Amino acid sequence: MSSSSVSNILFTLGVVLAAGWPAQGMASGDSSAPLRLYAMHCGSLSLESMSMFEDTDEYTATPGDLVVPCYLIRHPEGDLIWDTGLGDQLARHGDGVVIGEGVTARVEVTLEAQLRQLDLLPGDIDYVAFSHFHFDHTNNAPLFAQSTYIVNRKELDWAQGTPTPFGVNLESLNVLADAKTQLIEFDHDVFNDGSVRILQAPGHTPGHQVLMLQLTNAGTVILSGDLYHTHDNHELSRVPAINTSRAETLASIDRISRLMEKHDARLVIQHAPEDFAALPRFPAHLD
Ligand SMILES: [Zn+2]
Repeated sequence: MSSSSVSNILFTLGVVLAAGWPAQGMASGDSSAPLRLYAMHCGSLSLESMSMFEDTDEYTATPGDLVVPCYLIRHPEGDLIWDTGLGDQLARHGDGVVIGEGVTARVEVTLEAQLRQLDLLPGDIDYVAFSHFHFDHTNNAPLFAQSTYIVNRKELDWAQGTPTPFGVNLESLNVLADAKTQLIEFDHDVFNDGSVRILQAPGHTPGHQVLMLQLTNAGTVILSGDLYHTHDNHELSRVPAINTSRAETLASIDRISRLMEKHDARLVIQHAPEDFAALPRFPAHLD
């Protein structure tokens, strides 16, 4: 075969690929739609005292309410769930459940029911990732046994330690033993195009991370995980008493602040009810 016929074959192959030859194992995302961010309501927490969210005596007698969101990110190459909420089982308890001293948890609508509004089943979701392994972020993890879990190695090692750390519901993580998992140790570009990046921001827990999205119309959006629980904590760089490292938390706050400035990013403090309310009401979305 002459070199010119080889280059003709390569040229033809290139044209076919460029014309959209179906890729093997392509994920379920809609390849014609832009990146979209959906905020789902996955519960709320009422606290008699917010003191666990500072270590400088600012919240001693302050009660508070936190929203517990789950996010669906729809990318042309697949769907990602970021954080899974308090758990659909809680929806059976209309008045909520006291889960600790002065802490009541409520789930009004299940994650599964919200996905169904978009004609999605848990089995349709390609990837599930977590800001960290506290129960209010992992309790619905078992719903997604058919997905690929993107797991922070440091967070997993910490959660499996003895005794089980405060806030971890190990049972919700049992699903990881038999599921497809992708272990990560550093920042991770989920779809390899820079549009959905998991960024290391340790301190709340050893493998805590935030999600940075590059949306066409909404611009850069950062989902905070629990780097901050309230706007006061963001503005005043307060460190929750329950964090695993004060020094790492302050370093992470510094990193994310610089990124926000660099990208003129919109910060969504996940547990802040006002930030949740400011996002399009599901099933509407940001794009
Ligand atoms: Zn949380």
